[in-house]
Amino acid sequence: MTCLAGKELERYDRQLRIFGVKSQEKLKNSKVTIVGLGGLGCALALYLTAAGVGFLRLVDKEKVELSNLNRQILHWTPDIGREKTLSALEKLKKLNPEITIETLNIEVNENNIHRIVEGSTLVLDALDNWKTRFLLNDECVKNKIPLIHAGVREFQGQVFVIKPGEGPCLRCLFPQPPKEEERIPVIGAVVALIAMIQAVEALKLLTGWGKSLIGTLLFYDGIIQNIERIKVRRNPNCPICGMRD
Ligand SMILES: [Zn+2]
Repeated sequence: MTCLAGKELERYDRQLRIFGVKSQEKLKNSKVTIVGLGGLGCALALYLTAAGVGFLRLVDKEKVELSNLNRQILHWTPDIGREKTLSALEKLKKLNPEITIETLNIEVNENNIHRIVEGSTLVLDALDNWKTRFLLNDECVKNKIPLIHAGVREFQGQVFVIKPGEGPCLRCLFPQPPKEEERIPVIGAVVALIAMIQAVEALKLLTGWGKSLIGTLLFYDGIIQNIERIKVRRNPNCPICGMRD
């Protein structure tokens, strides 16, 4: 017996042919938190909704601006001035009414970070600043929740999978936080491509399929269409993950 209804079996037919009912049930029982509803977060939310992740938590406090629209594909011209969480929720519910979506229209900080990641099977970093990324990393490691980091700049981007206890964390990768940048220049298609690498890693982690990128930094350069994989070691002196297990 499966917990999937007939219409779900039809909706997910093409992926069920790959990974079967058991994996689809795992997706249905997963709780994924996407932090940030910008370029990365919109593409992630769209594809994870389509794939049937049972519960999505979307976190962003911003309102849609005209300059978002070259890449934040869930927000359209009539949405300018609306909350990003609402704009996203509206479209995602139409795409797939089978899943549950929670929206948190809040700015991530030390006081609410626990509430944001609490109960998640997986957390996705779709942020654009390092201060919040490290806050997210620290809370996920503390709660042993897997986290997939992504970042994009111009024609380049990176993805890094953090599974607490099994590999390095974001602070092992960057002992010194990289410099913050306002209004990062980006190509929309490159943001989507990086989000899709993140989404594929998410589906793999949630279903147990394939080989995860845990401990490997994947770096994409669209200028020369190159993907580089860089092995990252766990720092035994890491202030966040170094002393654990
Ligand atoms: Zn670490």
